[in-house]
Amino acid sequence: MKPFKPANKIQDLQYFGEFGGVNPSISDSSTYTFLSAKTMFDTFEGNADGCYLYSRHSSPSNLYLGEALAAMEGTETANVSASGMGAITAVLMQICGSGDHIISSRTIYGGTYAFLKNFLTKFEIKTSFIDFTDLEAVEAAITNKTKVLYCESVSNPLLEVSDIRELSKIAKKHGLKLVVDNTFSPLSVSPAQLGADVVIHSLTKFINGSSDTVGGVVCGSQEFINNLRNVNNGASMLLGSTMDSLRAASVLKNLRTLHIRIQQHSKNALYLAEKFEALGLKTVYPGLKSHVSHELFKSMMHPEYGFGGMLTIDVKSLDKANELMELMQNENLGYLAVSLGFYKTLFSAPGTSTSSEIPLEEQKKMGLSDGLIRFSIGLDADIERTFQMMLSCMKRIKIL
Ligand SMILES: *Cc1c(COP(=O)(O)O)cnc(C)c1O
Repeated sequence: MKPFKPANKIQDLQYFGEFGGVNPSISDSSTYTFLSAKTMFDTFEGNADGCYLYSRHSSPSNLYLGEALAAMEGTETANVSASGMGAITAVLMQICGSGDHIISSRTIYGGTYAFLKNFLTKFEIKTSFIDFTDLEAVEAAITNKTKVLYCESVSNPLLEVSDIRELSKIAKKHGLKLVVDNTFSPLSVSPAQLGADVVIHSLTKFINGSSDTVGGVVCGSQEFINNLRNVNNGASMLLGSTMDSLRAASVLKNLRTLHIRIQQHSKNALYLAEKFEALGLKTVYPGLKSHVSHELFKSMMHPEYGFGGMLTIDVKSLDKANELMELMQNENLGYLAVSLGFYKTLFSAPGTSTSSEIPLEEQKKMGLSDGLIRFSIGLDADIERTFQMMLSCMKRIKIL
C-alpha cells in the first residue's frame, strides 16, 4: 500500500471561486432558493444531493473545509462545527443514549472530562475513566452497555500516547466505536488510517493556528456524518453548533500552511525538549527517547511532521511555575495563556487552568503535578536564542 500523505491530500483538492478565483467563493447565505417545490421536499428528506437547504444543516463554505479535513484524515467525509466541544458533544450524544456506557482515557482535555463526568450523567450515560496505556484495563472495563472507546492520540496535558492500532482491534472485537481526538497531532498522526472510526479536532488550535477563532470538526464515514446532520435526529443539526461560513473560509486558508507550521512547531519543540532534559529538568515530549511511548509514537507517525509542538516540564511547585511563566512573558518569550498552536509560544499550569475541572485527587492519580507547565512551542525563527533566554529566566528564579 502506498504511504498515506495527509498534506498531499489537502493540496490536491481544487476549489475555484465563482469568477475563477483561486479561493472558493464564500457562501454568505443562511437559506437557499429552490426552483421547484419538489426539490425542496426531497432535500428535507435527504435525497437531493448537491442542494443546500439551510446553513445550520450545511453550506458550501463549510463543506469545502470539511472535505479538506476529511482528505487530511483519509475519511469519507467530515462535518465542521462551531468549536471542538461542539464536535465532541455531538459525536458522543449521537452514538450514546440513556443507559449506555463510555470508556474514556483518564487523561483528556478538561472540558471533555467535565462533559463526560457532569453532563452526560444527566442522561444516564456513564463513563469509566481508565489508564489507556494499560490495554488490558481498557478491555476489562467493557460491559454489554459500552458503546465507545474515547481517547486523544496525544493526551492533554500529560502527552500520553494512545496505541490506536491496538485500541481499534479491541473496539472491533467488541463492536464499539473508537473515537479519537487528534487535536495535539494533526498531520503527525492519522488515527483513521490506524483504525479509528471517528476523528475529532479542535480547529481552534494548530489547524487554524492564529488564535482568532474557535472551531471543530468530526471526520468519519459518510453514514456517520449523514446521521449527525439528519434533520430528524442528528446531533449536529439539532444541537446547532454550526460554524459560520465566513469563518470556515478563513480556517480553510490557514489549513493551506499547516504542514509548514507543524514542521516548525515540531522542530522547535524537539530542540527545547532536548535542551531542557539535558539541564536535568523533568521534561515530557514524545520525541524524547525517555518518553514511555516514544517508540509507539514513532510507529504511528508521519516522520516528516515530527513529534508535535507540545511539551511539559515540571518545576516542582506551582509558585515556581507561576514565577517562571510571568518572567518568560515579561521577556517576550511567549504568553501566559491557555490554548495552543499559535505562532507565539503559549504556556500555562494545567492543574489550575485547562485541567482544573479534574478534581485534585484525580489529578494526582494521573500524575498531573502542581509544578507542571504545559508549553505550546511557537514558530520562533531563532530557537537557539529562545532557549538561551529561557535558560536565563530559569537561573534568575533559581529553578536551576
Ligand atoms: C481545546 C481542546 C478541545 C476543545 O476545543 P474547543 O475548540 O475549545 O471547543 C478539545 N480537545 C482538545 C485536546 C483540546 O485541546
